Order: sequence, then structure tokens, then C-alpha cells
Amino acid sequence: MDHLKFDGRALINGKRVAAQDGQLFDCISPVDGRVLTQVARCGSADIDAAVAAGRVAFEDKRWCGMAPAQRKRVMIRFADLLQQHGDELAMTETLDMGKPVKYARGVDVNSASNCIRWYGEAVDKIYDEIAPTPSTALALITREPVGVVGVIVPWNYPMIMAAWKIAPALASGNSVVLKPSEKSPLTALRLADLALEAGIPEGVFNVVTGYGPEAGSPLALHMDVDCIAFTGSTRVGKQIHVMAGQSNLKRAWTELGGKSPNIVFADCPNLDRAVEAAIGGIFFNQGESCNAPSRLFVQDSIKERFLEKALALVPGYAPANPTLPGTVMGALVDQIQMKSVLGYIASGKAEGARLIAGGEQVMQDTGGCYVQPTIFDGVKPEMKISREEIFGPVLSVLSFTDAADAVRQANDSIYGLQAGVWTSDLNKAHGVARALRAGTVHVNQYDEDDITVPFGGFKQSGVGRDKSLHAFDKYTETKTTWIRIDSPV
Ligand code: NAD
Repeated sequence: MDHLKFDGRALINGKRVAAQDGQLFDCISPVDGRVLTQVARCGSADIDAAVAAGRVAFEDKRWCGMAPAQRKRVMIRFADLLQQHGDELAMTETLDMGKPVKYARGVDVNSASNCIRWYGEAVDKIYDEIAPTPSTALALITREPVGVVGVIVPWNYPMIMAAWKIAPALASGNSVVLKPSEKSPLTALRLADLALEAGIPEGVFNVVTGYGPEAGSPLALHMDVDCIAFTGSTRVGKQIHVMAGQSNLKRAWTELGGKSPNIVFADCPNLDRAVEAAIGGIFFNQGESCNAPSRLFVQDSIKERFLEKALALVPGYAPANPTLPGTVMGALVDQIQMKSVLGYIASGKAEGARLIAGGEQVMQDTGGCYVQPTIFDGVKPEMKISREEIFGPVLSVLSFTDAADAVRQANDSIYGLQAGVWTSDLNKAHGVARALRAGTVHVNQYDEDDITVPFGGFKQSGVGRDKSLHAFDKYTETKTTWIRIDSPV
């Protein structure tokens, strides 16, 4: 990994550039606390330059005017380049944000590349519509790119979160200005390098690095950005909608937080699978997943057996150096996040929940940010660890009496991203799945995922859907063109 050289300059109009005022910030690895490189600390002037480049590229149609079959070929080449550079991208991601390299390569690179390929493939396969009007008129319903799309993403799956937005936005012919998280900026810059290499014209895909208030807000407030697509916290997501309204009423789409319930009934068809999914779901990616099943509801009659099996799996998630190929639990993204997670653990103890696994920071001697996989039993709905998104390896176990009680408790949250139900009873599975207020409900599994299905939340988990053909709705305007037919034959 010492062979990796990082270039932290922004990418605007096809060129790597420093911030106009020369400001930089340190990019610190949570693996061992080392400074990986310095990164451009962009501000309003840099955002203006990136948006202007995107606007010029959009207006002269160097990308949206390209024949769809050609645009498709370029995007597929872009997806191929991610695979060709997969090992480098994976190790960069691991060093930058702490996830195990085996997942950075096997999940993040593959999934980002697949997403770009899938939307690339769609470019020349989607047709517009003709409305069923009387024969005196022809009404065409066409899709047009919105123009310049601003994209702001978090640090937990930097490449995947970026790909979910840039792939449909680029496939629709838009220009993009991407602002990655200041906590994990490096792979976004490499994606933009590879996009250029693949043949995406200069100015079409720009990356500005920097902090939220300094680089993200000017993008969300920009009068010449037509759409802002955001993934991150509910707190900032609300500000994004305000900024869109305060400025030019740009389209605003938000994928926000979650506190997903996972309900296991006593008639669960396969207890071992349910335990593995519950534990794997919360501890994968160090618990830094928006859709992590962080509230586990287990029916009383199987709870003891369930928790016994769960505790047996916990040692398998012991944190270790994520650059090693066998590691399954890496480092939390930074000291701030680690302190926040440890604060939630302290609050769980203080509020009377029963700590049955983990709870401690470990590997302090490395200089990295490592926390043990942690489980609290006896969690009550009003406790902070049951209500707030922890975004770390902490599972809260709650109880319920019957299906109605489980649904009531599950829905008693400001969030509605995902949910799980485990039962052999088909009626109960359907009934509970319908009653759960969540964008995705998993039945008798929790880890299925595919680019073909929409992803997003009810309630304060956000507005709009990533993935699937539905994502095109976010990055296109629908236009109606009426054509009068004077003398039908
Ligand atoms: P965050 O909201 O702190 O930051 C997200 C992005 O917004 C970063 O790029 C940040 O720099 C930027 N930002 C911060 N303040 C801003 C401001 N005032 N104006 C404009 N931009 C600003 O979130 P995070 O800590 O990076 O990510 C964790 C959150 O993301 C969690 O809540 C998680 O649930 C959520 N998330 C949701 C999904 C989903 O699909 N629903 C997926 C992944 C993560």
C-alpha cells in the first residue's frame, strides 16, 4: 500500500487543480492516524468554476448531444476502468475510511462499476412516449436532462454513493459536480480521472473537495445548479431542501438516515440464518450503513436461543487492520465518529440497557479508530440508543408481544429506510410488510440488494429513490410537445 500516491487536487473542467485560494486540508487515515495526503479545500470560487464548466459542457452538447449508443460505450468503458483499477481503488478506500479491503474490492468497487455499467447499458434502451390523444393532435412525452447536477455524498460507501447518483445523471446527459465527504475524498477524484480516460468529455464530470459548509452549501445554493442530489444525515438533508428553496428551487433529492427495525417472530423459518443476517447486517461496514438493522425485535420465546447464537458470532467480528485480506471489521471513519459511537454506548449503559457484548474502544496503540462490536439487550423504546442513528457497530435488542405491537414499535421512529420480518406465516409476512413504513422491507433475509430495485426512504429518511430505472426521474425533466394535425386523413 505504500506504493499508492494520492493526488488531492480537485478536478474541474478536465484538469486537476488546487483550490483557487490555495487552501488544503489533511486527509487522515483512520487505520493508523497517518496523513495520507493533503486535499484541496475548495470554496465558493471553486464551486463557481466547476458549475460554469458543467454549464458550458451542457450548453454545447458535447455529452448530451452524443449519440446514445456512443454515450453507452463511454460509460461501459468507464465501468471497465473501475474494474481494471479495482485493487488500487479498494486500497485507497480502505486507507481513507477504514473499511476492510476485502469488502472495498468485493463490494464497493464491484457495485460502483456494476452501477455505472447498468445505467450505461440503459442509455440506448429507453424510449419516450406518445400520449393517447385524439387524431387531431400528436402529443410527445419526452425526457430531457435537467442540466447541471450537484451531488453531495457521505463517507461510508464513497464510491457506491457517488455511482448511484453520477451514473443515472450522466446516462441522462447531464453535467455533474460531485462533492465527496471531506472524510473520504480520494476515490471520487480517481473516479473522475477514470471517467476522463474513458472518454467522458472535459467539464462534464467535475469533483470539488472540501467541507460541507464551505463547498457543499455553495453547491446547494448555486443559482446555476438545476438539481442537487444528496446522501447524508437527516440534519444536513433538511438544510439541503431549505437551500434549494432559498435559491433557484433546484430539484432536491435526499437519501438520509435510518434506524431500521428487524422483527424476528418465533416461527422464523431458519433461526441460524436470521441470527447471521441480524449480526452481519449491523456489523458489516463497522455498522456505518444507513440501512443497518440497528433495532432488533425478537419474540420472547426464542430470544434466549437467538442471543446465545448471536453472541457466538460476535468474536468473528473483532476489529483488525482493514488493509489485511482476512479482516471483516475495520476502523470507524475518524476520531469524531468514534467518540460519537462511544458516547452512545455510554448513554445505553446510563439509561439502564444491558451490555451483553463489546462496548470498548480497542487497538489504541495503532493510532486508529476501532470499537468492538457491541450489543445491548433490554433496550426500551424511549432510550437514546433505540431512537437515534448511531452509525456504528452497536445493536439494540428490544422485545414485543405480538405482530401489532412489533409494527407499532417498528414504525415509532422518525426514519423509514428499511425493515426486516422473519416468519413462516405467509399472511403475517405480507401483513407486517405492508404495515411497515419503510422504503424496503426484507422478508426472511436482510442482505438482498441489486441495482434493479429502488433504494430510499419514507419519512425523514429522505425524498426520492436511488437505483433502478426510477432514478432517471430525478435527473430528467418531462416535456410534453403538442403537435396539431390539421387534416387527419
Ligand atoms: P453528513 O450529513 O454529515 O455529510 C454528508 C455530506 O454532506 C458530506 O459530503 C458533507 O461534507 C456534506 N455537508 C455537511 N454539511 C453540509 C452543509 N451545511 N451544506 C452542504 N453539504 C454539507 O453525513 P455523513 O456523516 O457524511 O454520513 C452519514 C449519514 O449518511 C448517516 O446519517 C447515514 O444514514 C446517511 N446515509 C444515508 C444513505 C441512504 O441511502 N439513505 C446512504 C449512506 C449514508
